[in-house]
Amino acid sequence: MTIYFDNSATTPVDPRVVAAMAPWQAENFGNPSSLHAPGRRAREAVETARAQVAALIGARPREIVFTASGTEADNLALAGAIEAAGTGLRHLAASAIEHPAVLETVRALEARGVAVSIVPVDHDGLVDPDDVRRALTPQTRVVSVMAANNVVGTVQPVDDIGRVARAAGALFHTDAVQAVGKLPFDVAAEPIDLLSLSAHKLHGPKGVGALYVRDGVKLKPIVHGGGQERGLRSATENVAGIVGFGRAAALAAAEMAGDNARLKALRDRLIAGVFAACPQAYLIGHAERRLPGHVCLGFAGQEGEAIRLMLALDEAGVAVSTGSACSASHAAEPSYVLRAMGFDPLRARGALRLTIGRFNTETEVERVVEILPGLVGGLRPIATARRRSQP
Ligand code: PLP
Repeated sequence: MTIYFDNSATTPVDPRVVAAMAPWQAENFGNPSSLHAPGRRAREAVETARAQVAALIGARPREIVFTASGTEADNLALAGAIEAAGTGLRHLAASAIEHPAVLETVRALEARGVAVSIVPVDHDGLVDPDDVRRALTPQTRVVSVMAANNVVGTVQPVDDIGRVARAAGALFHTDAVQAVGKLPFDVAAEPIDLLSLSAHKLHGPKGVGALYVRDGVKLKPIVHGGGQERGLRSATENVAGIVGFGRAAALAAAEMAGDNARLKALRDRLIAGVFAACPQAYLIGHAERRLPGHVCLGFAGQEGEAIRLMLALDEAGVAVSTGSACSASHAAEPSYVLRAMGFDPLRARGALRLTIGRFNTETEVERVVEILPGLVGGLRPIATARRRSQP
């Protein structure tokens, strides 16, 4: 059996979520826009799920817009906010370590004439709210800073950043795809206008996400059609996926506190165990302000070998990822997140990400602590590798 330590990439679907979805993939096939009984049943299921997702973050159900992914939620938040603002407010600011779902949207908007500021981060991956303040202009429509980073696990001071954005009259968007279900949110009380979520990061199904849109915030849709989701996201709803998202959100709300205490203990045991056995290991990301269950490691002198380490772990039955891989095709490139944190190009290739989730056990952590040091020890140091490759 594989030890799955890649919960930041995606999480196993909770069996209780699978059970909740099953009828909506079979006998309950109605279209929620239909007025007959099967349609009404589907509508009711979608609205129940909307209330469950809203409750997880302290929103009102009508403030939740279902999308096909976290990526789409990010696109809708940024493009939708800019397009709704008209010609006067054509500037946005985003941190340098945002997920590509945000950064590539920012680049696409820039190509359409939107002015862009990229806010730096420190060596731990933290955004300084003062840097956000400095990036703002009278034209700033939206500031986007993620709640927690997928590669290094650093948790941002979103409330402080949101206050800075709001004080300047801008909207504040946070990509909370990695954070929701792990960190508590109460958007009614927090200075957050737009917040992206994704079901598959919290033991729900893939291909369903949501955008929280604070009451009164104006967005232009990016998908046009039949006007579902209050006109903000046309398309027949993915009823089974949405039901699964709702159930996953309800489970996260009920179990987050207990899960987190356990995840933090497992995370800290993993870090301590690896540090004790590998003197060259160092932690990447903020030591305290990090997601429960998130471990990102470098191994001094062996940074170029992260992919080999990942593959060796895979062969030993442990699924992890390298920090640079947002998609497999970029696995050998330095991570732009680590580069933004000040790592040189070689060290920026060297992260090993082990992310623990609800279904991992202490025994699995002990097994990884047992085998990882041997695999690290078996790697060639960079200096040797360089010498060998020279003619
Ligand atoms: N934002 C962050 C921080 C993520 O980690 C991810 C997925 O890895 C996404 C957005 C994209 O979410 P989805 O996979 O639902 O498109």
